[in-house]
Parts: sequence; C-alpha cells; structure tokens
Amino acid sequence: MIIVLKPGITEAEETRVLHEIEARGYTPHVMRGVSRVVIGAIGDAQAHQSLETLASWSQVESVTRIQKRYKLVSKEGQKVRSTVKINDHVQIGGRKVQLMAGPCSVENEKQLMTVAEKVKSCGANILRGGAFKPRTSPYEFQGLGEKGLKLLAKAREATGLAIVTECLSEEHAEMVAEYADIIQIGARNAQNFQLLIAAAHTGKPILLKRGPSMLIEEWLLAGEYILSSGNPNLIFCERGIRTFETYTRNTLDLMTIPILRQETHCPIVIDPSQGCGNANLVETLCFGAVAMGADGLLIEVHPDPTRAWSDGAQQVTLEAFEKLTKNLLPFLHAAGRE
Ligand code: PEP
Ligand code: MN
Repeated sequence: MIIVLKPGITEAEETRVLHEIEARGYTPHVMRGVSRVVIGAIGDAQAHQSLETLASWSQVESVTRIQKRYKLVSKEGQKVRSTVKINDHVQIGGRKVQLMAGPCSVENEKQLMTVAEKVKSCGANILRGGAFKPRTSPYEFQGLGEKGLKLLAKAREATGLAIVTECLSEEHAEMVAEYADIIQIGARNAQNFQLLIAAAHTGKPILLKRGPSMLIEEWLLAGEYILSSGNPNLIFCERGIRTFETYTRNTLDLMTIPILRQETHCPIVIDPSQGCGNANLVETLCFGAVAMGADGLLIEVHPDPTRAWSDGAQQVTLEAFEKLTKNLLPFLHAAGRE
C-alpha cells in the first residue's frame, strides 16, 4: 500500500500514522519528497488488517493498493514523476535533460581535468569517471581506486561539476559516498542486492544500470531494493542488453524509456556508450534517447580514445562531444526539453 501524507503535517502527526501502520502488521518505508511524505507499507494484505481506512485520517491524502511486485518504484503508488536532487543547482528529472559525461576510467589528473573542463563548457553538469572498474578480464586495468576518487573530487572542486562514479563492492560503499554525488551501480552488479542496500544506506542518489540480461521487471525490482532501504533518490540507467546481435557490443534498448515512464516515477538516463560500444553511433543514439523521453545521457568522452585504458572504441573525442551537444539542441527543443 502507498500512503501519501498531506503536505505540511507535523512530525508528531507523521509518527502517529507510522505507528498505526506498524500496529496493523505492516512495515512502513518513508520517502521524503520535496513537498510531501510518501509511505510505502509492505506486508501481505490478506494476512493483515486493511490500511484502506487510513484514507479517512486527517493527516492522510490517499491510500493506494499496489498490485505489481514492485511497489515503491511503481507509478501506481506515485503518479507524479520524481526529481532527484544532486546538489543545490542540479537535479535529474524535470524539463532539463542532464548531460553526465567524462572518461570511462579516471587515468590521471591531466586527462580528467581536460575532459571535465570541456564537458562543462559544453553544458554538462555532471562528470562521470570510473575509479573502480568492473573488467571482464582480471588482466585489464582495474581502476585507480581511492586515488581515482580523490582526482574526481579535485575535478569537482575545480569545475563545480557533480560526480557520478561506480561502487563495485559493499565494503567500498561508504568510501565512494564520501567522494561521489551519485553512486553508480554497474550492469554486472545490478542484482547484487547486498551492494544495492549498502549503497542505498549511504543516502547518496543511486544510478542503477540495467544488467545485460535483466528483464525490465527484474530491473524495477532491483530499484525497489534502493527505495525499500529508505533511499528515494533512484535513477534508472539503460546501457544496452545482450542479444543475438554481435555487430554492436550491446543492443541499446531504447524501448525501456517509454516503458519505464509508464511503470515508474523514477527518472531514466541512457548510456549510449556502453549501449553500442562504437563512438560513431553515440550521437545518433543520443538523438533517439532524447526524442523518446530520457531524463539524462551518460556519455564517455576521452581526449585521445585511441590511448584510453578502457573502452577506447566507444569514447568520443572532445571535439565530437562538442559537436554532439550542438546537434542535440533541435532534438531537445522538439521534445519540449532543455
Ligand atoms: C561504465 O560506465 O564504464 C561501465 C562499466 O558501465 P556498465 O556497468 O554499464 O558496463
Ligand atoms: Mn566504460
């Protein structure tokens, strides 16, 4: 059940509702939005006293029964689309399509600063960069670890860009949260539920990639782990799935945009870089993503992709990124976005 409280109620009134939900045998999960508090009450409705009568309480705006397996991420419970606040001037969701751009891996200060300054000048508000890299082979570059996180923090200091970076393991969640503005959960870890819970508990916004062979329902349920851990700041990120097609690295499933907009109130971001594995296709995929309603784009940019320490084939050059952002403008306007 989703219980939406009236705007402006006191803490004591909220506590009364929470106690009543518990007294009726449900576990309340509180999500604090900008203007109101939404409570997800999880429990088997057959085995408990109904919560429907709470609708008549003066503190309560609405009570809705959710039929889907995913509850808190569901559009059934929250009709209004969520915005995720990243810092005082950046949010994901809403009219602006946020550009999140930067190298696949943080390699050194010069590389990172060069990219950071460029993407900022092209309108990006968020810098991406991997410090912990989930590589298919143990012999490939595994990332700079905390040193990479420190470089990201330095780039934030110099440019004001917010930072999105991946957390690979539960034990690093607190450390990554110290440096990051958004914690990225990578495709390979999208169903690592203990990691999802640990990342959610840091309180930082979470960018949850779709696993390469995850069903949309499984992805939404993975997102449910974040919200049910008390963190409402969830952003879904489609990054391509594995299909029979081998021409591209992955098959970027742009259909997930309208589907997620139908199923969840959480924002959705597209990563065309991992999605196709080919720098030449990235710009066109961005056009498609914006036209279909994406709330953000996660794009890999490198000063010299031919020398990149990871994912060289799919990273666009600084010049290509600038061109991309200019060419994107008519698509943004046509879609009624900024
Ligand atoms: C990345 O963003 O560089 C990355 C490793 O992404 P994914 O988890 O989608 O493969
Ligand atoms: Mn990459």
